[in-house]
Amino acid sequence: MKKQNLLELTIEELKAFAAGMGEPPFRGKQLFRWMNQGVKSFDNMTDLSLSFREELKKRAYLSCTEIIKVQEDKKDGTKKFLFALEDGNAVEGVYMKYKYGNSLCISSQVGCKMGCSFCASALGGFVRNLSSAEMMGQVLEAEGFTGEKINHVVVMGMGEPLDNYENLRRFLINIHEPSGKNMSYRNITVSTSGILPAMRRFAVDFPQVNLAVSLHSLDDEERSIIMPVNKIYALEDLLRESRSYTEATGRRITFEYTLIKGRNDGDAHLRLMKEKLRGMLCHVNLIPLNAVDETGYVGSGRRRAEEMAADLAKAGIPATVRRELGREIDGACGQLRRRH
Ligand code: SAH
Repeated sequence: MKKQNLLELTIEELKAFAAGMGEPPFRGKQLFRWMNQGVKSFDNMTDLSLSFREELKKRAYLSCTEIIKVQEDKKDGTKKFLFALEDGNAVEGVYMKYKYGNSLCISSQVGCKMGCSFCASALGGFVRNLSSAEMMGQVLEAEGFTGEKINHVVVMGMGEPLDNYENLRRFLINIHEPSGKNMSYRNITVSTSGILPAMRRFAVDFPQVNLAVSLHSLDDEERSIIMPVNKIYALEDLLRESRSYTEATGRRITFEYTLIKGRNDGDAHLRLMKEKLRGMLCHVNLIPLNAVDETGYVGSGRRRAEEMAADLAKAGIPATVRRELGREIDGACGQLRRRH
């Protein structure tokens, strides 16, 4: 019999699992609480009977995600983790300290199908989706390693989360569950390259979770060069869907715009941004590119980014430049895995 990875289950499924073993359903809730405190051994779940614990060892296990490498920026406390998965694949996560709490950027897939031209995760192609247990595993391991609570989760690491919707959905439900991490949906951000059908579903399923959309250009042809996904879900449709999202949820949408020198950072680009985003309930996050050797692209520089943000703000479009944390480490997501 194949053992069940309990970290994969929702609390309701755990209750059913416990019931299936002849235990009262509330045992499922106890299991859920222990697991989400980072306890990995059934022996340490001391409010469960010894016989139940022995039976659990035969039928179930707790995965699996393991930190195999850590890069640390001593100046700002940023830590980049390489997590090994059960099957030998590896993904990255980044832990950042902010005034308002600790944040972890997690991966949702091994590799990525989107093929964005500046991105390190795209280089090796797509390998597979992460399970919800593997997403939670990154949070549990980062907490175990740092000894600190993670207050915010951003799903902005390797992969396209909305291309792995079902597992993302289970992860979000589990991290929000009061008997576990009890993380407010408002403390979670999911970033997408713009998979429209999934965005529509996301607005209905998780209206409280913050949504960030990667734009990188407001010219359709140019966006297709930077992000091939634009050939399937075109810019105008994405903007229309983003507007519907803000109307349906009443929530501000974040537009990410990675600045690539000479590609999408000119004055004409800025004009187009102002023209197309004006009046939207949005916030623009300008991201200085972390150069990835293989792509040949370079960043626009902090000064240009600040200048663009100021210009957007003057036009009534709130804009900020992403703080560059972890300057001493392989900043761009996917680089650590490639070097490994
Ligand atoms: N697939 C999703 C989430 C992962 S990428 C998405 O596209 O949004 C998360 C963000 O990091 C995206 O905005 C992406 O454009 C940005 N990013 C990826 N590689 C980068 C790099 N080398 N430098 C700066 N930003 C990068």
